Amino acid sequence: MIIRIGLILGIGVLLVSCNNIEPQQQNNREEAVRANTTQHEYAMVIHGGAGYMSPEKNAEEEQLALKATMDSLLLLGKELLVNNADAVDVVSHIITIMEDDPRFNAGRGAVFAENGKNELDASIMQGSDLNAGAVAGVSTVRHPILAAKEVMENSRHVFMSGAGAESFAKEQGLELVNNDYFFTQKKYDRLKMVQKEAAKTGFNEEPFPDSKYGTVGCVVLDKKGNIVAGTSTGGLTNKKYNRIGDSPVIGAGTYANNRTCGVSCTGVGEFFIRYAIAHEVSSQYMHTNRSIKQIADELIHGTLKEINADGGLIALDKFGNVAMPFNTTAMLRGYINEEEKIVALFRSEGKSKEN
Ligand code: ASP
Repeated sequence: MIIRIGLILGIGVLLVSCNNIEPQQQNNREEAVRANTTQHEYAMVIHGGAGYMSPEKNAEEEQLALKATMDSLLLLGKELLVNNADAVDVVSHIITIMEDDPRFNAGRGAVFAENGKNELDASIMQGSDLNAGAVAGVSTVRHPILAAKEVMENSRHVFMSGAGAESFAKEQGLELVNNDYFFTQKKYDRLKMVQKEAAKTGFNEEPFPDSKYGTVGCVVLDKKGNIVAGTSTGGLTNKKYNRIGDSPVIGAGTYANNRTCGVSCTGVGEFFIRYAIAHEVSSQYMHTNRSIKQIADELIHGTLKEINADGGLIALDKFGNVAMPFNTTAMLRGYINEEEKIVALFRSEGKSKEN
């Protein structure tokens, strides 16, 4: 009798240890079968901003180099995820690399505010418990996304701004830099150009239609079934009065919920705030039977396009399905899961099912 019980227990333990699928992922798999979709083991999607690049105006080398960078970020993300990294670590790590890359409008390379300074915004949210962290208007934190992560993990707040956010980042041991660390000639020239234009036309913001945003974002579904989304930006060129865009606003530029999806947005932040776009994607996913792609498409090509609001978003649903719509001419974007990898910049690239 004792031997038989021992045997049954032993087999039980063996079965449990062989089946190392986390409960969240297991639930999703069962739901995926009912929803007639596939549960991906893991997935990651990144963007480097929506805007008005064009195959004619932007040199081919520039386009290829940007895409090569996205490609290597996707491969790095995959390697981390295959090795069981947590979504929150992958999102923050990938975004710190993009913040160090002067070609993006985030961290070093951020655009300039009217006062000639770089004022940075970032946010991160984890879908397991809806915990989130954000910082706005920081000008001395090398990696704003890490400050947002510290707010999420080591404070009882969600959103900090300006000098207070910087003191907090310092207390948490994050690297602080002089504001001129963020300087790049290209973005400075752009400020001067926009200001010259503003003096002539009275139109104060980044002039369209040739702007390139370059904000960065990342959404990850890890092997445990956790979804995390993050966004980091310098905002809009020539922004005034400590203007804050959507990127650090939870529900506008960033949102994540394990029960639905994760979202990171890019574009003219004022509209994304008014329509609470990132949360809207999650909410519609929760309350309708529409796919992540249908929901994201309708918001970007319908709701926002109708009011001339430029931008795009990246989203992953809880099964790892992706949406990457944008209503400008280009959005640097990339997606990876266990079986496919996509990197694209213009509309004609990538697969129609994603953008
Ligand atoms: N959404 C950002 C903002 O309005 C800008 C961008 O995506 O490039 O601050």
